[in-house]
Amino acid sequence: MLNNRSATLEVLPELPVDRAGWVTRMSCTLWGHHVDNHDFLAAGKPFDRTCRCGAAYLPLDGSSTRVRHTLSCFLGHHTYQRLVDRDGYHEYVCVQCGHPLLFAADSDPYADSALFNKKVRYLCGLFGHHVSRVTNRNGFVEHACGCGHTFLRPESEITVIRHPARCVVAGHWITFLVARSGYAEYLCLHCGHPFCFAAPGSGRAAAAHP
Ligand SMILES: [Zn+2]
Ligand SMILES: [Zn+2]
Ligand SMILES: [Zn+2]
Ligand SMILES: [Zn+2]
Repeated sequence: MLNNRSATLEVLPELPVDRAGWVTRMSCTLWGHHVDNHDFLAAGKPFDRTCRCGAAYLPLDGSSTRVRHTLSCFLGHHTYQRLVDRDGYHEYVCVQCGHPLLFAADSDPYADSALFNKKVRYLCGLFGHHVSRVTNRNGFVEHACGCGHTFLRPESEITVIRHPARCVVAGHWITFLVARSGYAEYLCLHCGHPFCFAAPGSGRAAAAHP
């Protein structure tokens, strides 16, 4: 028995230990998976995404993926580029974290900007987003705050939307919603926060909730 144990101990240090990979996997388990539109663009394919930790994630089958907050965007600023004009609004998407931004076309302070930085409006995080209805789409009602933040919710009559504690603390649990304008849009099950991830070559694929 003792001989067996010492033999095992002699072998263990020679096993390849992928410490960096282990740390990345633990980090994703603790905080949620990384999302980065730079990575999705570089991958050059619309779907079949793999996180830095090696896990396949963001599937199209309706199951959810827990994603972490992108702290450089939250504490610094998002960097937005124009996604599409629709429903009388200009829609933008963060080139890093995939956060969308929506402004009415006739009152868009960024209408002439190809690319711009914008800080999160922290007061909305504290007191809630004061939203108005934009449109009905993909089985939800879309609401937008004056800060540009959007939510897709089942409720049509709603005036203030707060980020629930579980999303603030633990990240968002997102599921595939629709592919549009070269992006795949995902939606948090708990708060209705949408995210748009680059899906090069996706064209106009099918929606999970037509
Ligand atoms: Zn991961
Ligand atoms: Zn961002
Ligand atoms: Zn707001
Ligand atoms: Zn959420």
